[in-house]
Amino acid sequence: IVRIRDVHKSYGPVEVLKGISMDIMKGEVICIIGPSGSGKSTLIRCINALNDIQSGSIAVEGQEVHDARLDKLALRRKVGMVFQQYNLFPHKTALQNVMMAPIKVLKENPAEVETRARALLKKVRLEGKENHYPGELSGGQQQRVAIARSLAMRPDVMLFDEVTAALDPETVKEVLVTIKDLAAEGMTCILVTHEMGFAREVADHIYFTDKGVIVEHGAPAEFFTNASDPRTRNFLSQVL
Ligand code: ATP
Ligand code: MG
Repeated sequence: IVRIRDVHKSYGPVEVLKGISMDIMKGEVICIIGPSGSGKSTLIRCINALNDIQSGSIAVEGQEVHDARLDKLALRRKVGMVFQQYNLFPHKTALQNVMMAPIKVLKENPAEVETRARALLKKVRLEGKENHYPGELSGGQQQRVAIARSLAMRPDVMLFDEVTAALDPETVKEVLVTIKDLAAEGMTCILVTHEMGFAREVADHIYFTDKGVIVEHGAPAEFFTNASDPRTRNFLSQVL
């Protein structure tokens, strides 16, 4: 569903992605791990065209993302993204936050959107919080509203960039459970994460990046037990 080929990306003279290739199949859960500054966020932002690339190709469902003729709005409808900072609208309730884009961007019928938004809030286990404002919700609850908001656009692929990094340890788990539920339903998920337990349990495939290259990748069982590259071993010894 996502095909990445030899992607190079620079910020000015500094090359931060140096030939990245990945294949992500429909329904797969992919975790990208690696040290700070290795280009994980940059890569994930390239997938929904928030960043441009200098060479290579990224195709989502066969459509080249970095083609000037591509409709970026249509792409971002297909590829949902959730960040570390959830950026909810503070003066809108949880329900209103989830309903906004389908009504404003997709011009969908508000009554139908509301039905769907309520179902999504239930899915992320926030039933009863529909009328709460972000300020009245915990970090983990706000992040789950952000996930529901993204799902309201009916994406085919979800990108998660360290969505639990800013959360208290107690609330990390509820967000990970939500993502696990999504994965179990067959949503294609690409996550940048430092949650090794989650990666090990839920991922179909793990990529380890360092300094803009994929050093090593594989299924979790092999990856965590038989990492061969010293950079991977070193990283794992620090985080496990
Ligand atoms: P972290 O784990 O800290 O989130 P990361 O793997 O997500 O790191 P990126 O955010 O992709 O790393 O950054 C990769 C490199 O690109 C870093 O050296 C960073 O300083 C640089 N970089 C990121 N964004 C920009 C930008 N907008 N302009 C210039 N340099 C940038
Ligand atoms: Mg990052």
